[in-house]
Amino acid sequence: MASFEFLTPQTLPEAVDLLASWGEEAAVVAGATDLWVNIRSGKLAPKALVSLRALPSMRSLRHAGGDGNGGPGDGARTPGAATGTTLPGGAAGGGAASIAAGASPSGGALTIGAATPHADIEDSLWVAEHFPALQQACASLGSRQVRNVGTLGGNICNAAPCADSATALMLYDATVVLQGPDGERELPLGEFFIGPGQTRRGPAEVLTQIRVADPGPRTYSGYLKHTRRKGVELAMMSVGARVTLAEDGLTVRRARISLGVCAPTPTCSAGGELFLEGKPLTRENVARAAEIAAEESRVRDSWRGKAWYRREMIRVLVPRVIEQSGAFAAVETR
Ligand SMILES: Cc1cc2nc3c(=O)[nH]c(=O)nc-3n(C[C@H](O)[C@H](O)[C@H](O)COP(=O)(O)OP(=O)(O)OC[C@H]3O[C@@H](n4cnc5c(N)ncnc54)[C@H](O)[C@@H]3O)c2cc1C
Repeated sequence: MASFEFLTPQTLPEAVDLLASWGEEAAVVAGATDLWVNIRSGKLAPKALVSLRALPSMRSLRHAGGDGNGGPGDGARTPGAATGTTLPGGAAGGGAASIAAGASPSGGALTIGAATPHADIEDSLWVAEHFPALQQACASLGSRQVRNVGTLGGNICNAAPCADSATALMLYDATVVLQGPDGERELPLGEFFIGPGQTRRGPAEVLTQIRVADPGPRTYSGYLKHTRRKGVELAMMSVGARVTLAEDGLTVRRARISLGVCAPTPTCSAGGELFLEGKPLTRENVARAAEIAAEESRVRDSWRGKAWYRREMIRVLVPRVIEQSGAFAAVETR
C-alpha cells in the first residue's frame, strides 16, 4: 500500500517551496492518470505529492482574440461558455476552464494553463477552429473520463513518445513555461524532451503554461492517431501536419510534420518540412515529404507495432492528415 503526504499548496510560490524542500522525494500531481499508474506498479514511490488542484490559474485557456471579432467559433462547447466568460468552478478542482479573449494585435496566440484537462481543450470551439490538430489530439486521448482529469501539463511532463497532445503541440512551435526557485523560464517544447519519461524540468519546477504563437492566416492543420484497435488505446504511432500557405494560396510558406512513437520523444520531421517549404502544395510534393519523413524517422519495433510498419504508415498518414486539414481543398478552390 503506497503511503505519502498529500500537499495542497494554495499558491504557485508555495508549490515551488514545497518541491524545493522535499527535493527528489516529492512529485507534482495534476490528474494522476499517469502518476498513479506508476505508483501502483511500484515504479515510483514519492514521499510527498504536491497537488495543483487549488491553483485556479493553472486551469485556463486564453487566446489573444484571433481575428478580433469574437465570432461564432469563439467559446467552448460546454453549455453556457462564451468568450470572456469565466465558467463556474474554473479552478482545477471542477468545472470547465475559463475562456478569455483579448484584443491583442498578435492575433490568435493561445496560452494554456498546465493543469487544464484535455476535455476543456476538446470542448473549445475556438481551439477547434484555430488549432484543430490540438483539439483532435486531445479528443483522441484515452476515454472521456481520462480526459476529464488528465491534463495537458501532465501529458507533457510524463514525456511518453506516444503523448497525443504533446505531439500535436509540436506542430505549433509551442513553448513551455516553468516556475522554479530561481524564477520563470520558457523553452521550446521540442527542447523540453530528453528521452522517454525524461525532460529538462528541474525537481522543484512546476510547468505552469503552454504557449502557442498565432500560426497566421491560411494555416491548415490536423492530427491522426493510429492504433491497433478502436477504443481506449495508446497510439501505435501518430502523425500531425500543419501547412501555412503563402498569399498566392498555393505555395507552402511554412510546414510542420510531427510524429509520435517514431523517435524516443514526440518529434518533427525537419527534412520533410524543408522539402515542402517554398514549393506548391501538390499531392506529389506531399508524397515526397512523407517519404523523407519516413526515411528520417527513428521508428523501432515494439509490441504495439514493427518499425517497418510504422515507417510505412508515415508514408500513408502524412498525405492523409494534410488532406484532412483542408489544405488541398483550399489550394484547389483558390
Ligand atoms: C486509461 C488511460 C488511458 C490513457 N490514454 C492515453 C492516450 O490515449 N494518449 C496519451 O497521450 N496518454 C494517455 N494516457 C496517459 C495520461 O492520461 C496522460 O498522459 C495525461 O495527460 C496525464 O496527465 P495527468 O494530469 O493525469 O498527469 P499526472 O499523472 O498527474 O502527472 C504525470 C507526470 O507529470 C508530472 N506533472 C504533472 N503536471 C505537472 C506540472 N504542471 N508541472 C510539473 N510536473 C507535472 C507528474 O509529476 C508526473 O510525473 C492514458 C492514461 C490512462 C490511465
